[in-house]
Amino acid sequence: MNVLLLGSGGREHAMAWSIANSDKLDQLYIAPGNPGTATVGTNVELSLSDFDAILEFIEDKKVDLTVVGPEKPLVNGITDYLEEKGHSVFGPSKYAAQLEGSKKFANEFMKENRIPTADFETYTRKEFDKALTVIKSKDKYPVVLKADGLAGGKGVFICETEEEVEKRLNELKKNDKFQDAAQTLVVEEFMEGQEASVFVISDGQTAKILHYAQDHKRVGDGDTGLNTGGMGAYAPTPVIGNRMLQRVEKEIILPTISAMLLDEHPYKGILYCGLMITVDGPKVVEYNCRLGDPECQAILPALESDFLDLMYAAANGQLDSKEVAIDKLYRCCVVLASDGYPVEYEKGKEIAGIDEVSEDALVFHAGTKEEDGTIYTDGGRVMSVVGAADTLEKAIEKTYNEVDKISFENKYNRTDIGAKGLKYQDH
Ligand code: ATP
Repeated sequence: MNVLLLGSGGREHAMAWSIANSDKLDQLYIAPGNPGTATVGTNVELSLSDFDAILEFIEDKKVDLTVVGPEKPLVNGITDYLEEKGHSVFGPSKYAAQLEGSKKFANEFMKENRIPTADFETYTRKEFDKALTVIKSKDKYPVVLKADGLAGGKGVFICETEEEVEKRLNELKKNDKFQDAAQTLVVEEFMEGQEASVFVISDGQTAKILHYAQDHKRVGDGDTGLNTGGMGAYAPTPVIGNRMLQRVEKEIILPTISAMLLDEHPYKGILYCGLMITVDGPKVVEYNCRLGDPECQAILPALESDFLDLMYAAANGQLDSKEVAIDKLYRCCVVLASDGYPVEYEKGKEIAGIDEVSEDALVFHAGTKEEDGTIYTDGGRVMSVVGAADTLEKAIEKTYNEVDKISFENKYNRTDIGAKGLKYQDH
């Protein structure tokens, strides 16, 4: 099988690595890829927004399956575009990707289908004053304000006071970067609990759980500082036990997949359920229509089944006959970033020590570039290191041992990835 994988982050390096392990693979192309994906396939220069050029490439190279890593092309309808031309794509349609692309759509969908989530209200741009009046009258804090559309994690505000609500509403109204995303405002009840992510693969009718993990979004130890794309993850997480996983399947996953099917928009691809495990049970914080980065780096190495085979079956309505097998190990993934991320940081620093990392650990590239055989930093999140062991504690220790072997100027990483899981385990 010839495969085209779209994307260039750590998630895509992990996906490419996993696809390259498949017996069913002939050629793997990654667009645009990174120096890590170049070690397991062929990088090609294609823009993810140029659907015509992607189609031309697929036809030229006889690509059998296109796998979409990031959300943007999905929300912009790449699956519909390529499927109309007769090609197999792993990733949901434009309509189905609204589960991630529009928070209003997702919340209304969940309400209609009685899928547990936060209470919410939506307001148009002209109604922001009304939103403030309603929030003031309820006087219940914290309250969560969200720009409806994709804002790269920067469109969500958890406000503790009325003054903060006023400040954030003004920001959403004025700030250019939110123009598109904040045409609609979603105001949500604050849910208390532990967050976890469950990853599901679906062909539209059948859905199977791949694995579950916990992410670390904040830049600083102890979940402090600014939100980032993700500073690390571990899997599986003790936040979700067997019984909780069964509830998630029954109360969230199955109703989501069957409601999309009934709406005649079958959900094909990865369904990422971002959950809050509350005292009342699991509730959805967000849906995403692709694998998480860095959770992907911690979950794909655990997959004993052939990932490419599963994706091809999901893209072609044949997932029913496939089995998802996961090993019993714990994995910890630590992101190495450029100091200053997610605000301002320097690039172009030489990276040393990758070759010294043990063979049983994995290094996935993200913001790197290669020049004459030397690897340099080229982004905020530079790479991630993944270690495995039979306990979470040992997996964390192993991973940090490997993290210490890699060095570059201004290297920054959190030192407590997985600690939340250990604490939870001890309770
Ligand atoms: P963007 O669309 O800007 O990329 P996002 O998709 O990351 O943002 P969410 O996942 O909805 O946005 O929210 C980001 C974080 O805010 C969540 O991971 C969670 O920690 C917190 N959060 C969001 N909604 C709630 C809620 N209702 N109650 C408690 N915490 C919440």
